[in-house]
Amino acid sequence: MTEKKLLDTLDDFASKGIIADLWLRDDDATVPSLALNRLLNLSEQYSIPITLAIIPEPTGEALAARLEQTTNIDVAVHGWAHQNHAGPDEKKRELGLHRPLGTVLGELQAGLVKLRLLHGTRVTPMLVPPWNRIDPDLIKHLPQAGYKALSVYGPEKPDRLLLLNTHVDVIDWRGNRGGKDHDLLFTETAARMHEAHATGGMTGILTHHLDHDDNVWTFLQRLFKLTAGHPGCRWRSSRQWLHALSP
Ligand SMILES: [Zn+2]
Repeated sequence: MTEKKLLDTLDDFASKGIIADLWLRDDDATVPSLALNRLLNLSEQYSIPITLAIIPEPTGEALAARLEQTTNIDVAVHGWAHQNHAGPDEKKRELGLHRPLGTVLGELQAGLVKLRLLHGTRVTPMLVPPWNRIDPDLIKHLPQAGYKALSVYGPEKPDRLLLLNTHVDVIDWRGNRGGKDHDLLFTETAARMHEAHATGGMTGILTHHLDHDDNVWTFLQRLFKLTAGHPGCRWRSSRQWLHALSP
């Protein structure tokens, strides 16, 4: 019942002049909801930037109007329709090559164009594949569709495209589909910070506002309270990160 592991890491970093970069990606937004409000309110309360991975096909003006009232929200492209095109014996995948390459790229281009029309400069040209899965052969074609970065789950592996991954998933999808134990999440976050310090990169927290139970909301509140303003870390905007690397 303690966040000590993370606090110890941050205090240690601060004493050595190290700053851990953190970012948060929240997936599956399409429309405003109570759960989304809860997330946006936390972001405001603690001045923490959040990247919303929005599903382009079903989204529209309502979400754009809601985000206009916020100050810290970036928008990334979450596939096209979050539809599974894989076979019954395969893992779910929208961005495989089950359909012609041109069809998939066309959807991805349309998604970026649509979100830019709705959300303007909030949009970062970063693709977040549904289920964090994309066929490796697709990646080299993404710049043709306008993308400059890719974000999946797990340690970054060098690729042709800039990668900004998530590393700590707050939900136990294979177990009870509820929030993971807080101690475990604080420990995972601290471990990733050490890894990122050694290898470069950020520590990415992955959330899904529509699937959060109270346990997840409490964890986020604790994480934000502990990290906001701590000299051993800083929360980063994915849009500013990408802009700095690829203006
Ligand atoms: Zn998703």
